Amino acid sequence: MRRRNDGTVERWNVNRGLWLLGVFLSIIPTFHLSAQTFEQRLLAVPDTASVRQMSRDLSAVPHMAGTPAQATTRDYVIDRMKSWGIDAWSKEYTIYLPQPDTVAAWFIPPRGAPQRLSLAEPGTGPQIPPFNGYTGDGDATADVVYVNYGLIEDYKTLDSLGISVKGKIAIARYGRSFRGIKAREAQKRGAVGLIVYSDPLEDGYFRGDVYPKGPMRNADGIQRGSMMNGNGDPTTPAWSSVEGARRVPEDSLDIPKIPIIPMSYGNARRFLEPMAGPAVPQSWQGALPFHYHVGPGPGRARLHVKTERGARAFHKIWNTVGMIRGSRWPDEWVVVGGHRDAWGPGARDNVSGTVSVLETARAFAALARDGQKPARTVVFATWDAEEWGLIGSTEWVEELEDTLRARVVAYLNEDGTFSGPTFGGSGSPSLKPLLRAATRVVPDPVGPGTVYDVWLKAHNGDTTELTMGNLGGGSDFSGFYHHLGIPAGGIGFDGPDGIYHSMYDSYDWMTRFGDPGYKAHRAGAQLVAVIMGRLANSDLLPLDYAAFGTEMNGLVAQLDSGISKKQWTQSVNTQPLKDALDRFTAVARAFGTERDNSVRASAVDSARAQRVNQALMLVERRLTRPDGLVSRPWFKSLQFAADIDNGYATMAFPTVNEAIRYADAAAANRELGDLVNRIDQARAALVEAAAALR
Ligand SMILES: [Zn+2]
Repeated sequence: MRRRNDGTVERWNVNRGLWLLGVFLSIIPTFHLSAQTFEQRLLAVPDTASVRQMSRDLSAVPHMAGTPAQATTRDYVIDRMKSWGIDAWSKEYTIYLPQPDTVAAWFIPPRGAPQRLSLAEPGTGPQIPPFNGYTGDGDATADVVYVNYGLIEDYKTLDSLGISVKGKIAIARYGRSFRGIKAREAQKRGAVGLIVYSDPLEDGYFRGDVYPKGPMRNADGIQRGSMMNGNGDPTTPAWSSVEGARRVPEDSLDIPKIPIIPMSYGNARRFLEPMAGPAVPQSWQGALPFHYHVGPGPGRARLHVKTERGARAFHKIWNTVGMIRGSRWPDEWVVVGGHRDAWGPGARDNVSGTVSVLETARAFAALARDGQKPARTVVFATWDAEEWGLIGSTEWVEELEDTLRARVVAYLNEDGTFSGPTFGGSGSPSLKPLLRAATRVVPDPVGPGTVYDVWLKAHNGDTTELTMGNLGGGSDFSGFYHHLGIPAGGIGFDGPDGIYHSMYDSYDWMTRFGDPGYKAHRAGAQLVAVIMGRLANSDLLPLDYAAFGTEMNGLVAQLDSGISKKQWTQSVNTQPLKDALDRFTAVARAFGTERDNSVRASAVDSARAQRVNQALMLVERRLTRPDGLVSRPWFKSLQFAADIDNGYATMAFPTVNEAIRYADAAAANRELGDLVNRIDQARAALVEAAAALR
């Protein structure tokens, strides 16, 4: 799969080379010349002093969604955008965001008085309470059981050991799944409370020196985060939280009912070290310096959590939107967004993403002031309350659904990814060749050479290793990609970090460990600018459906392995799906050749380009279905979804995949038929594009 995908990518680059050569050899059409200049001028704007200043300003105080600090970041972003001459405004929604009144925990030894635990993160200034968004309320005292990662398979292991969490407080380590899955599974099995903690094996001393000596999590570091599994305001599950919106009653919301408290490994140790009961299986052992047991007891825990309920639980959130109108095709939009809220100072998550959005906006604005406007409209968004469940972006997408479906060419998402020197990207397979091409023109933050050069060197020159991820759950691309079928992607630079969702995710951490010279921030803004510039200025949209078809075809093997595990090979057959993807890819290849010829001959006038692009924009939209997934109607894309039992992991062909998981062969066949049908409809859009080009 990787190799075939990469073959496509290399072809793309060869084609680009030919295209550039063509530009030089022909009479140099003015538009292409100015497109080149446009990109070079965009690349020249991002600047380390500028990104550093914005990083410092925006991470000055913790800015959780629903707090006044978020009004300050909103005003900051809008002021900056306006100062550069960009049309900018904020969009307000009222959201169910219960803030904590009480968060307290005790270790109760077998003999002696309960010991109240300090849940502070010392040395960090003003602090956001150590709590999990959408925790249940309660005051529970019970024995404690260690449940490893708290996944479905972990409870199967506990069953085999004869241990139940019913009536107990479960203690789970972070990792391997979205935390909301841990809450769902513990509650389902009758646990009366849940402690989630950061084991040093995941991001603490086992991985490197801890803060402030190193970048990893120290014994006080706490990972906050939401416990809700859905996307968007839970009181408006499929519609927008606009003024006067209908609301689901509070007692029927799909959020946890049991109290949950996130803990440092310093505190978790108090429960784990004296624990009795069976010794854990080897794979359950973390990196605290003793052998782990599953419990229960003899020590007990008390968890007391009280959060706002009723009218008090509703708070205002604000997205910001900045826009530069396109000079040729103003009704085609290229959108970049990043979330503006955080669980602390958030220098990495997500001041870094916000800054890359802002710095890109500054670059486009500088050119616009000189009369060089992009051909399409470019939109620069910052989202509020992402951390609680992708809320700001989801409400916006739900409100403007029809407009966005008609207009958005592609969405780029920038979330928490500027914390080291290592490039990474992810996105729809149709966008990956463009993301990859951008790495060839941006200088690497460390060097030598371009981002591409360093990326390739890190993989010993093996181009088949230069892969990018697909989009599962976990950030603001979801509304665009999973709900509307709009191509989406993003890029970043990562390094070792153990400060995720803690107060230690600060300007101090960033300047010591993450990106001391702010060169990764600058390179990030340059990459985003190049990607947006090509999406905004190319006559024919640079979406690569040959790469898309090839990659998707490779992923059918995942379905095949599920089918053979179920021993369904006689009754469920994926060959028609492979054939449909082959038909799709063949049409996409033919279209690609015609597109390259037309571009080389500069033979595409504005109206014709628009017809071709309108057809291209339909391809992935046709791979959605209005009813969505059986398990989650909000997820309408049939390409990828977040795994329902993991939350972060990506599931390809989710309708078929879930039918296999739930052991329904008839449904698997029905879903395969539906998928083939829709892939053929997507292919028809490519045929329309090719016809419009001729
Ligand atoms: Zn984030």
